[in-house]
Amino acid sequence: MIPVLDLQAQINALRPELDAAVAAVLDGGQFILGPHVESFERRFAEYCATPHAVAVNSGTASLYMALVAAGIGRGDEVITVPMTFIATAAAIELAGAKPVFVDIDPGRWTMDPARIEAAITPRTKALLPVHLYGQMADMDEIMAIARIHQLVVIEDACQAHGAELAGRRAGSLGHMGCFSFYPGKNLGALGEGGAVVTTSDELAKRLRMLRNWGQDGKYNHVLKGLNARMDGIQGAVLSVKMNYIEAWTEARQARAALYDRLLADLPVRLPSVPANARHARHCYSLCVDDRDRVCERLEADGIATAIHYPIPLHLQPAYADLGYAKGDFPVAEALAATTLSLPLYPELSEADVREVANSLARAFIRA
Ligand SMILES: *Cc1c(COP(=O)(O)O)cnc(C)c1O
Repeated sequence: MIPVLDLQAQINALRPELDAAVAAVLDGGQFILGPHVESFERRFAEYCATPHAVAVNSGTASLYMALVAAGIGRGDEVITVPMTFIATAAAIELAGAKPVFVDIDPGRWTMDPARIEAAITPRTKALLPVHLYGQMADMDEIMAIARIHQLVVIEDACQAHGAELAGRRAGSLGHMGCFSFYPGKNLGALGEGGAVVTTSDELAKRLRMLRNWGQDGKYNHVLKGLNARMDGIQGAVLSVKMNYIEAWTEARQARAALYDRLLADLPVRLPSVPANARHARHCYSLCVDDRDRVCERLEADGIATAIHYPIPLHLQPAYADLGYAKGDFPVAEALAATTLSLPLYPELSEADVREVANSLARAFIRA
């Protein structure tokens, strides 16, 4: 079976270094924050080309805290997209605000800037674009709209470590950028993890307090915070993985480029990637008609697929109270109905990429 993702391959390759990293934390005895988390923060900030990275304990916490740090809460609206993982909207609700959806662009599958202005109301405080599958949203347009309407921009970069637009890194273009280190992400911890990056000294200071119960000194709580601190072991593990993230991203891109070539004549629809973009290739997602049957054919050939995501957020039962209906966001709905993700990870062999492409080609012949 060719899996969609093979975490064990990466862990096996790094096992001695990971063992040493965990041992260093056991010897040092600082299990929450501490020197390994601090050195990871410095390296991740440098990687994102931002002065600050604040390490937290999940991508969800990073989104929630970015919203709170920006002063967003009850009565506020945050504009985001329905084609994302549930955490994006959940974080907005956790902060006490209301998610307002706009449709995605049919080419790059990220927030369509042309839809934003119609969704802005006097309550709108922030834009929360999602860099879906590892490709950045159209940040130039989004930032221009945000400047006109004085909105905060928070990038959901949980799938886009190292993605770029015109040479600028994901997370560094908005006021804050949020990352997840869930094990399956391009940079994954051995457990939960996340970070907020920012160019603002003031926001970084607030974020550092928020993750630690809003304290500016022991038992002096100046903000209403929470416990969202990163574990020492995750800081040590992620520091090891920082040595490989660029090579892994390039390996993902090479495999994606091979898929692009091999699938060129098949009836599949791929996202458009602007010439000045660096796609981090978290997922190799494409659209096909008769998606479920194509997935079954691949499965019969021993090839796993995933669907990111089968139901857009505005149609999720838990968010029915937002009052959206089927048909409200046709581009997102069409993507959800036709998308599938092929196996993609840095250790995937070229032979396996070819096998997946051949199986997909056969699936169409038999379809
Ligand atoms: C993974 C993910 C999150 C949430 O990250 P966790 O670390 O799982 O909390 C948020 N947004 C997007 C787009 C994601 O892919």
